[in-house]
Amino acid sequence: MIWRKQFISAMFPKFLINNDNVKYIKDASLDRFSTFRIGGKAKHLFIVRDNINLLMVCYLSRLHNLKYKVIGLGANLLFDDDGYNGVIVVNKSDNIMIRDNHVFASSGASMGKLINRCKLRNLSGLENLSGIPSTVGGAVVNNLGAFDCSIADCIEQVECYKKSNLSKRIILKKDDCRFQYRDSIFKHKDYIITRVKFKLNYDNADEINNRITDIINKKSSSQPLNQHSAGSVFKRGKIIPAKVIDELRLKGEHIGGAMVSTKHAGFIVNTGNATSKDVLNLISKIKSQVKISYDEDLEEEIEFVHR
Ligand SMILES: Cc1cc2nc3c(=O)[nH]c(=O)nc-3n(C[C@H](O)[C@H](O)[C@H](O)COP(=O)(O)OP(=O)(O)OC[C@H]3O[C@@H](n4cnc5c(N)ncnc54)[C@H](O)[C@@H]3O)c2cc1C
Repeated sequence: MIWRKQFISAMFPKFLINNDNVKYIKDASLDRFSTFRIGGKAKHLFIVRDNINLLMVCYLSRLHNLKYKVIGLGANLLFDDDGYNGVIVVNKSDNIMIRDNHVFASSGASMGKLINRCKLRNLSGLENLSGIPSTVGGAVVNNLGAFDCSIADCIEQVECYKKSNLSKRIILKKDDCRFQYRDSIFKHKDYIITRVKFKLNYDNADEINNRITDIINKKSSSQPLNQHSAGSVFKRGKIIPAKVIDELRLKGEHIGGAMVSTKHAGFIVNTGNATSKDVLNLISKIKSQVKISYDEDLEEEIEFVHR
């Protein structure tokens, strides 16, 4: 308890402690902060609701030599059963501003909220990404994609800060972000993304709405959206992971509480009490069977967050 008080007062100047836009949880259970519902405890966890507090918590963590990680909805993450020995910063900074066909979204805004706000202004471009759990920040890092569309298609620029110099705002133009399939510069260099500028096209409101409904229907008929998962476990490469896993008759295969979805072979679902160890062991089993049968190495799309 004394330790907690010391930490907060050291980490937080008074104006931050009394701020509605930041909440501190000590020894927070990480399963609440990932769509997989798996993970031990984070030593420190902050939920931030604006960019100033996002940067301030990152800055103070670094100042106190604590490792830290900014997350969105945790929809691409597998947290370690042993938790996280540092600071998890849950980004809920979700301001969205629209000027003509330009949209400025804070990185903690959910893609659902963004797509809806665009729809209300007859702005089209992001509909194919409907129904995917993601914040704007997580979507940029992973170059979120579906149905031959990716978030990079609509991005003009990204506002970010290097972890090593959080006082200097950087604007990266789309080409500087090196977007590729499920990849971007943000996966390889340590940046905090704060805001993204999109350029969208005007379209008919009914058509936009129909496209969103159609995409959501397609997703819910083919993916186990009523179970806890982190989406597709493996990246597409020379082979389509879901297809080969299905051909190997691995649907329904399970280790502990982790199971290959019976609905979509590319997903591993948490049937209730899965541990990260269960998921990692199941991943290894799938990879070795694919290697034996197809002589291909599957690469993980989901990210394991070590203690
Ligand atoms: C049911 C389901 C369906 C899915 N379908 C798809 C799909 O069709 N296509 C697809 O591409 N993905 C899909 N995914 C995966 C997931 O939705 C995406 O990877 C998504 O972009 C993750 O966003 P997030 O906000 O949850 O990021 P998180 O998972 O929280 O974080 C992902 C990474 O981004 C980093 N990060 C997050 N925010 C910031 C920030 N502001 N600054 C710097 N780094 C940051 C984190 O540190 C982490 O390394 C699916 C997942 C689920 C659960």
